[in-house]
Amino acid sequence: MKVLVLSKRSIIILGLLFILIFIIAFHRFYFFKCKQVSNSTISLNTFINNVQNLTNGKEKVAYLTFDDGPNIQITPKVLDTLKSENIKATFFVIGKYVDEHPEIVKRAYEEGHFIANHSYSHDNSILYRSSKDFINEIKKTDQAIGNAIGVEDYSSHLFRFPNGFMAPLYKSEKEKATLILSQMDYAYIDWNTLNNDSMQKYSSSQLLANLKESIKNKNTLVILMHDTKDVSNSSLVLKDSIEYLKSQGYEFKNFYSCY
Ligand SMILES: [Zn+2]
Repeated sequence: MKVLVLSKRSIIILGLLFILIFIIAFHRFYFFKCKQVSNSTISLNTFINNVQNLTNGKEKVAYLTFDDGPNIQITPKVLDTLKSENIKATFFVIGKYVDEHPEIVKRAYEEGHFIANHSYSHDNSILYRSSKDFINEIKKTDQAIGNAIGVEDYSSHLFRFPNGFMAPLYKSEKEKATLILSQMDYAYIDWNTLNNDSMQKYSSSQLLANLKESIKNKNTLVILMHDTKDVSNSSLVLKDSIEYLKSQGYEFKNFYSCY
């Protein structure tokens, strides 16, 4: 009989204990979820803010950025050089080329590079045809990147306008697009340093000379190069460019550092 009383008590105590554990677990789970959401919102705002104010930095930092890839001939060479130099860069990819060569983007992502959005078509007549077309170009590119790297609902939150925001062409359309980007939680960035690899056919030594000239009096460098060879081939001079920047005291970062 005594055993029965004890076991009744035990059942009640155990029951209360379970209820208590359940309440604590639910509360912790709920709190954790809220914390996760608010953290990611805070870090996204921080990211956008940091990107928009990047070129005001006081430390010598170089952000290598490669536009218009992936390109089956050039991008793997760029990745090989970055790997041997242990540098993480940023690739502003064109969505339609991501769909053609997802394996290259996957490699870049897995090697720690930041994959950012440079529109799907790189065709201004499509990109600025309407707000809907602009949004579609961003989303289709994100989707292509997500498919390539195996991340569902991928968004880089970072866009570069084809030809740059600063280029005079389509100025008012680009102004309007910045509002759309803001609504999509997207930062956008041009560059402040370049070797002019897309302007005319330069020799490797001239590309390096252009870069040396372009970095003068700057601490934060956002360097524009192309992982294509439409005009000049930056991949041929990448190692020398990196060595030079290192010799000048620059530390290399990509846009993950803005989080
Ligand atoms: Zn471009």
